[in-house]
Amino acid sequence: METRVIQVDEQHIQTGLLRQAGEIIKAGGLVAFPTETVYGLGGDALNPDSSRKIYEAKGRPSDNPLIVHICRMEDLAYIVEEIPEAALKLAEAFWPGPLTMIFHKSAAVPHETTGGLDTVAVRMPSHKTALSFIREAGGYVAAPSANRSGRPSPTCAKYVTEDLAGRIEMVIDGGGVEIGLESTIVDMTEEDPVILRPGYITKEMLESVLGSVREDRTMMSDLNGQAPRAPGMKYRHYAPKGILTIVDGEEERVTAYINERLDCLKREGHKTGVIGTDTTIARYRGDVCKSAGSRDDERTVARELYRILREFDDEEVTAIFSESFDTAGIGQAVMNRLLKAAGHHIVYL
Ligand code: AMP
Ligand code: MG
Repeated sequence: METRVIQVDEQHIQTGLLRQAGEIIKAGGLVAFPTETVYGLGGDALNPDSSRKIYEAKGRPSDNPLIVHICRMEDLAYIVEEIPEAALKLAEAFWPGPLTMIFHKSAAVPHETTGGLDTVAVRMPSHKTALSFIREAGGYVAAPSANRSGRPSPTCAKYVTEDLAGRIEMVIDGGGVEIGLESTIVDMTEEDPVILRPGYITKEMLESVLGSVREDRTMMSDLNGQAPRAPGMKYRHYAPKGILTIVDGEEERVTAYINERLDCLKREGHKTGVIGTDTTIARYRGDVCKSAGSRDDERTVARELYRILREFDDEEVTAIFSESFDTAGIGQAVMNRLLKAAGHHIVYL
């Protein structure tokens, strides 16, 4: 299959092109599209064959449910059993935006889309191209991240084609994404909402609307055999090919420790890499040293993290060290993804 790539500028959306993309979805095909979080791999959420194709194109286990993307609040009722009051409040505050909510599904949503579950994950993205595309596609687009399973989520169209060219009908290239990490997931099917995956919308932001919100206790820790409630969180996503170690502690000691380990690993024949920040990166003696941005604004780190992990793979780095990031605000989402990438391998100094 030849994959067509079209460029669509969010500021000057060409509706004609998105109509063609929408037609592909309606005909049961797959289209990757930009959102404010990462690129999504879209198919018709109400068509079981489309969902099957998504799993196949990604090489993703079919028990890992997809997120249904909508573009209008009035479309929600058709795919869910009921809309709890708390969900209405969160939608009012954060939709369109990087928040996914879990509901009891209606009969309209096939089990192929929900990985066999009776619940469905729904999000309304804020990216203008995504919203127009979803509308042209019929209003319900199932989309996981547009990467091959096991690779970091794509933050630009080039990474989508790297992973999926020849496997899907079209890629909508909207340039680089704004946030760079997947949406926050909140389960609304319980009395008290529970955060299943941290993201740009933080616990504090959710609590400013709802009062208290709980966190799934497997979210930031090693699983120790406990099943996380977002099935996808059990897979070791985002794993680079090289061994990744996170080093946490006071800045001077972290740089000294990492440099010592780098020298040692280089002698053993490793190609070494470092993920640092603007202020520390020049101090490292790794073969490939990359700054994830500024510690003063962890949003920059969120945006760069997946690109950096992909580049280490491309450059065949075999041993990587990363500084640790603050777990406040979006820093929690950054650490959640980094800990997964490292297989929870962290050294405390
Ligand atoms: P991705 O779109 O690639 O970020 O993956 C979707 C994520 O949403 C996975 O981690 C899924 O486990 C999670 N998810 C989707 N639907 C549900 C659901 N019904 N219940 C819990 N988690 C879900
Ligand atoms: Mg994903």
